[in-house]
Amino acid sequence: SRVAFEAEPRRGLLHPGRVPLGLKRKGLRVVVTGGAGFVGSHLVDRLLARGDSVIVVDNLFTGRKENVLHHAGNPNFEMIRHDVVEPILLEVDQIYHLACPASPVHYKHNPVKTIKTNVVGTLNMLGLAKRVGARFLLTSTSEVYGDPLQHPQVETYWGNVNPIGVRSCYDEGKRTAETLTMDYHRGANLEVRIARIFNTYGPRMCIDDGRVVSNFVAQVEGLMKLMEGDHVGPFNLGNPGEFTMLELAKVVQDTIDPNARIEFRPNTADDPHKRKPDISRAKDLLGWEPKISLKKGLPLMVQDFRNRIFGDQKDANT
Ligand code: NAD
Ligand code: UDP
Repeated sequence: SRVAFEAEPRRGLLHPGRVPLGLKRKGLRVVVTGGAGFVGSHLVDRLLARGDSVIVVDNLFTGRKENVLHHAGNPNFEMIRHDVVEPILLEVDQIYHLACPASPVHYKHNPVKTIKTNVVGTLNMLGLAKRVGARFLLTSTSEVYGDPLQHPQVETYWGNVNPIGVRSCYDEGKRTAETLTMDYHRGANLEVRIARIFNTYGPRMCIDDGRVVSNFVAQVEGLMKLMEGDHVGPFNLGNPGEFTMLELAKVVQDTIDPNARIEFRPNTADDPHKRKPDISRAKDLLGWEPKISLKKGLPLMVQDFRNRIFGDQKDANT
């Protein structure tokens, strides 16, 4: 089916998911919460390139205006500085809900705020989706598996999460966000999608992010395929290529500086010992799998970090 862009609000009229990726059609109105962040800003690029109208809703806690500045002046792009913990009224067809600090350094900074963002923020965006009949996609996380007792992790695994630890604001917050999403799906008939993203890296990542790198930002395509497809999920989106931290440190050494020194430090509390996504479901039902190896992807991120640290703006928005 074809979907026309209308100036007037519509309610429950569309089934945006019936439009296959890549099919030429008039744009949808899409909200991306957290769209000024690392993953969100790449998603915004892709949606605008596809012809959609995009509203970014972001409080700029970890996001940066620079990540979306190249769209300033594009009539299809709008950015609202807004905290999702507060209600908001918008008229849209799809909501990609990403707003949430994703790196442990950031989400531990103010744990109560993190859980409010995950619970109240997700509730508000689901309420918005319900009011306008929009399709809602939640970016959940591999952290819902906690310190997994099953390896690799399949989506049917319920996880092993400490409810009272220093990571719980994020892990349990996302688990509750998934629960809310499914309750709106069952109770209010909302069209929902759930992605469980495994660690992603790439250009525009916060320089102080501090997370281990495993999957290049091409994951964004997985999110779009999930939104447009017919399956609720949850879907693991990640790279099943497994390596130890020492192997990773050596790749980083090879890529950046052979003289860089590797330091061993005590681990942080509740850090999962081992994680590896089983992505059979995403492969079968979404036709998605990661394509960029660490060796190929890492230099792209390194170049972006160098540009930002040393002020060379060339390629800053790749
Ligand atoms: P990020 O920190 O770069 O982006 C998060 C964005 O959300 C930022 O722009 C931030 O300013 C915004 N935000 C935070 N709290 C907000 C609030 N209360 N109101 C409005 N905006 C708010 O992180 P990211 O890596 O781009 O992650 C995006 C999403 O993907 C998150 O939901 C995260 O949990 C999920 N995810 C990411 C990864 C990964 O490896 N990057 C892994 C698993 C899940
Ligand atoms: N909400 C919102 N924008 C909307 C509709 C709802 O931010 O367009 C918020 C609303 O303020 C509430 C939450 O979403 O806090 C849940 O809304 P819902 O209507 O599902 O539940 P209720 O308001 O009945 O608790």
